[in-house]
Order: sequence, then structure tokens, then C-alpha cells
Amino acid sequence: MSRFVYADNAATTSVSPEVLSAMLPYFGSEYGNPSSLYSLGRKSAEAIAEAREKIASLLGAKPNEIFFTSCGSESDNWAIKGAAHANISKGKHIISTVYEHHAVLHTLDALKKDGFEVTLLEVDSEGLITPEQLEAAIRPDTILVAMMYANNEIGTILPIKELAAVAHAHKVPFFTDAVQAVGNIPVNVADLGVDMLSLSGHKIHAPKGVGALYVKTGTRLHNLIDGGGQERRRRGGTENVAYIVGLAKALEIAIEQLPDMERVKKMRDRLASEISKIPATRINGSMEHRLPGNLNVAFEFIEGESLILLLDMAGIAASTGSACSTASLEPSHVLLSIGLPHEKAHGSLRLTLSHENTDEDVDYILEKLPPIVARLREMSPLYNN
Ligand code: PLP
Repeated sequence: MSRFVYADNAATTSVSPEVLSAMLPYFGSEYGNPSSLYSLGRKSAEAIAEAREKIASLLGAKPNEIFFTSCGSESDNWAIKGAAHANISKGKHIISTVYEHHAVLHTLDALKKDGFEVTLLEVDSEGLITPEQLEAAIRPDTILVAMMYANNEIGTILPIKELAAVAHAHKVPFFTDAVQAVGNIPVNVADLGVDMLSLSGHKIHAPKGVGALYVKTGTRLHNLIDGGGQERRRRGGTENVAYIVGLAKALEIAIEQLPDMERVKKMRDRLASEISKIPATRINGSMEHRLPGNLNVAFEFIEGESLILLLDMAGIAASTGSACSTASLEPSHVLLSIGLPHEKAHGSLRLTLSHENTDEDVDYILEKLPPIVARLREMSPLYNN
């Protein structure tokens, strides 16, 4: 029996029908510019205000602490560049981690060209960082700590509340990229105690091209996109009304569905225990501190790219690393950071499940994957040796 199984929800997710129907009026009759004074424009402005209130209450923030952006990458750029330049009089040292998404790492590279100094903390073989490591890295000239809540490749969840407390003990602001965490685990900015937090629509069943940045009241932050007076003069650009409405709806549904993540975790655990039975196979990253839908496995003696192609032919969509790095043949920096040698990083498979997946999907992956791995190994001179 052939079927299609989408197991790449960390790369992107389908737009849910409820999200789409909430958005549709803003592609049709409700096309007003939110800055216009007449009623058509005011209706758009009201839709944005409602979305902002909803997102704020779902995340434990105040409405005026939520800013809409075009994507997770923009939110990451804004938080990091904006905080770096706003705090330059205090110092130029920023702390982050080696296994951040490129939206963070490349932003830090750009800041280095402007004379900022960056310390990237190493992670252990499980993908974890301790508050003590952060404590040891903070200097008098540290002006920002940027650490992801959950890793996009191996799903590791960092102890953000404890890490933020360390930064705050030194009066250093703390930003977390929560693009992979939101919708998969509970996220509450007040409880976490972070100063800034980014999220992205397309990871939670809203469309690609919309995101948000939480900025705690009082956080020093320069603008990234100057323009009109939108977003309380903090982010120029006529608002993407339909997508903002979609983002709020998607977040509402994702949070309602959080209890279903127990089922997702059970499916992931079944995949993990069955796949582990394949010889010369190892699970990458911590199983304890991990997103419920994430599994990342290294198969020795095979190439991840060939595995993805054969899985695709069998109707299974998966990934060898983050979607952004699959175009390059460089091994994933995340897998290297937890100590995998190049060849094992190359032979790694990421399966990421969402609440849309079923037990039948898991059965299907477990039916197709082992013979594909065996077939690729038969062709590998290294395996035969
Ligand atoms: N941060 C993390 C952890 C991600 O996984 C991603 C996307 O893969 C991003 C940032 C970038 O988000 P966007 O695709 O919305 O720019």
C-alpha cells in the first residue's frame, strides 16, 4: 500500500483549514490599509489589534510587547542587531551557542564585521548547555545573550528559564529563538523571564512569511526596518493583515492542541525504539530534553541525501538536517557540535512529527525505512568491508 507521510514538520507545516478560512476575508472584501482612517481601514486595524491581543495572552505577554514581522529570521535579526546596537555604550560582547539556527549565527557574523565580539558556547554530546557554562562566559562588557529554546535539528530543549536568570543576575538582556518550541511545548514569556522571544508562523500551521517578536517593556532595542509609523513606529511596512490574522489563529489552535503532543511523543518514541534496532544506528541528541515530535538518527555507512531520495520515492518526506542546509553538502553544524564525525553527520535522518501524523504513518515509515537503509548499505563498499 502506498501513501504519503509528511514527517518534516520542523522544516515547515501545512496551513490548517481553520487558519486559511480566518485569513480569507483579508484577501477579499477586507482589503483596507490598517493606517487608513475610514471604516474599511479601521476594520483591518481592528483585526491586527485582536490578533496582537490574542497572541499576547497566549504567550503571557502584554499586547504592546508583541511586534509582527515577516518571518522568524527577521525576528532573530531584529532582536540581536537591535539589542546589540542599542547597548553599544555598555560593551560589544555577545554570548550565544554553536548550534543556533543560521538566522542567529549569520546575524552574529554580520555583527562581528561591525566590531562586536561573539562567544559561542559549546554544547555537550546530548546538545545541552548548563547555566554554569553561561555564568563562566559572562564578562563586564557582555550586552546580550541569545540562545535557542529548542534546536531545529535534534530537538534539544535548553533550560531557558535558568539561563535567563543567570544573564539577568549580571543585568544582561536575554533573547531566545523559540521558532521550534512554540506550538510543540508550553511557552510563556513571563514564566521563562526572557526579554525577547521570536516565533514563526509556518512552523505552527500558518503560512510562510509571517512571524512575531516579543519585546519585554523597557528592553533597549533599535529598529531594524525603518519606514512608516506601523507597529508603534518600531517596524516599518504596511502590515500583512491576512497573515497576522492567520498567525494568531494558528497559535490559538496550537496551544489548544498541546495536550495532543503526548500522543505525538508516543509515536516518536515508537519510531525511536524500532529504528534503534537497525544495526549501526544511533539516536542523535538527548531523548529526555527533546521536542515531542523530533527524532534524529545517524545511520553509519550511508549518505543522508540518498536516503531522503529513496524515502521520497516511497512517499515519505523527511530531512537530513535543517531545510536551509539541505541545498549544501556541508555536514550539519548541529550534528558536528554534538561530536558526530563528518560521515555520521552525513548519514543522519531527521523525522519530525506533528499532531497531523497518525499511528498508520509510523507503521508505514517502519515498513519502508529499514529495507531502504539495508539497500543503501548493500551498495556501500565501506559497509561490505
Ligand atoms: N530559527 C529556527 C530555530 C528555525 O528552525 C527557523 C526555520 O527553520 C528559523 C529560525 C527561521 O524561521 P523563518 O523560516 O520563519 O525565517
